[in-house]
Formats: sequence, C-alpha cells, structure tokens
Amino acid sequence: MLLDNKFNLKKKFEDGREVIYISGNLDEDARFDEVRKDQPLVFDMRGIVGVNSCGVRNWVNFMRDHKNQPITFRHCSPAIVHQMNMVPSFKGHAQVFSIYVPYACSHCDAEDRVFLDLVKGAREAPTKVPCKNCKVGKMEIDGDEQQYFAFAA
Ligand SMILES: [Zn+2]
Repeated sequence: MLLDNKFNLKKKFEDGREVIYISGNLDEDARFDEVRKDQPLVFDMRGIVGVNSCGVRNWVNFMRDHKNQPITFRHCSPAIVHQMNMVPSFKGHAQVFSIYVPYACSHCDAEDRVFLDLVKGAREAPTKVPCKNCKVGKMEIDGDEQQYFAFAA
C-alpha cells in the first residue's frame, strides 16, 4: 500500500445522487472547484487521515461559499470529528449523519474504529467492545467520550 496521503476528491453516483468522497490530508492542496453550487451536497469523509490549519481554513471558506446548500457529512473519520469539535465553523450548517469512533485496546494497544449511525439514533457508542487483535482485552473509546460527541450537542 502506498503511503500517499495527498488530498483527493472523487465523485460517485449512488442511488441517483452524487456523493463526494474526500480522502487523504485536508491541507493546502485541498481544492473544491469541481463541487457544484446548485444542489444539496453529500460528503463521505471516511478517508480523511489528517487536517492541518491550512486545510481548516480551506474547508471553512468552502462551507461559507456553499452556505445556501444543504450539506451532509457521512462516515466522518476521527480526524474530521476532532476538527468539528475544535472549530464550530468546520461543521457549519452541515448535518452529520454518521461518524467513526476511535477505540484502543488496553491490553495490546491495538486500535480500531467503530461506525456509528447518528441518524438511526445511535448517539452513544458502546463503552467496551471485545478486541479482535488479542482476543483477551476489551477496546475502549480512545479519548474523552463526552468531548468526542461535543459536535452533536
Ligand atoms: Zn487487544
């Protein structure tokens, strides 16, 4: 696998609507020129691995430029969730449909992430899940749970 975390934007048609997949590092290379300004937008953010300050600025500008369109975030990676919690305008007027919650095993240090569908009302992540790696320990939410869900308040 290549360790190329360059920002990437890809559009896919799913169930008759366009979904915009963004991945890699959200940074100074992030461009959104090809995103339409005349329709609701759905972003799939599972592939975003990191966000730097230039990326935050790019994204906040993007949200402001598209403030008249409904915007949905889905499959938000932990990097995205952290930004939403730190910078309120990062989420802006978007609706967050689903996120990933980071877990770590206290026994073997393995890390994993658990998908959480917020639309279906699953506002709480399971506190402990069995570790698939060591099969001995339990995985717990990596970091402060309340802080992690602050964006949804
Ligand atoms: Zn483990």
